[in-house]
Amino acid sequence: MQDLIRQLLDALGEDPGREGLAETPRRVEHSLRFLTSGYTTDIDEIINGALFTVPYNEMVIVRDIDLYSLCEHHLLPFFGKCHVAYIPDGKVIGLSKVPRIVDAFSRRLQVQERLTSQIAETIEAKIRPLGVAVVIEATHLCMAMRGVEKQNSVTVTSAMRGAFHKDPRTRAEFLELIHYRGGPAGSMRRGVIGPAGPDEAACAGS
Ligand code: ZN
Repeated sequence: MQDLIRQLLDALGEDPGREGLAETPRRVEHSLRFLTSGYTTDIDEIINGALFTVPYNEMVIVRDIDLYSLCEHHLLPFFGKCHVAYIPDGKVIGLSKVPRIVDAFSRRLQVQERLTSQIAETIEAKIRPLGVAVVIEATHLCMAMRGVEKQNSVTVTSAMRGAFHKDPRTRAEFLELIHYRGGPAGSMRRGVIGPAGPDEAACAGS
């Protein structure tokens, strides 16, 4: 990979041999391997031993999980917050495991919509809850740095399954608990809050 980074620097018109860039290929490889380490993360190993049988069926929320990922269209970061909720049906998952599941899917080349679904699907598959909800609010540097969209726009994606999909009150309670202020809950699916206005697409490869 380091040879490829040297070639890339050369193609960009740089001199890969100059002092400041001498260690760059090594650093970039190290960094990219970490940022894509989610491909080799074993979800079952993360969750291992942290599933508990508990007679509790109220909403569990893990809010404001820091999220950093790479957009697969431009290999540029997108980052923000992820909020996860579920309503257990006899089984709960250790709370510290939820951010680790988010990391496992974030540390890959992603689109925000797929990342949101994968987190929801994993929790659904592992604990079979009555419902699961995931909201991601993120800034895409491929939009902000390239001036494609307004600089401060935030892309919001959500996945609502089970009770969160069927029951507007459950969904509204979740959105209230995460302090979501972006718009009417029922219509929230994929949009941008902030200066860009509603219903703008996330990075779509432009
Ligand atoms: Zn992008």
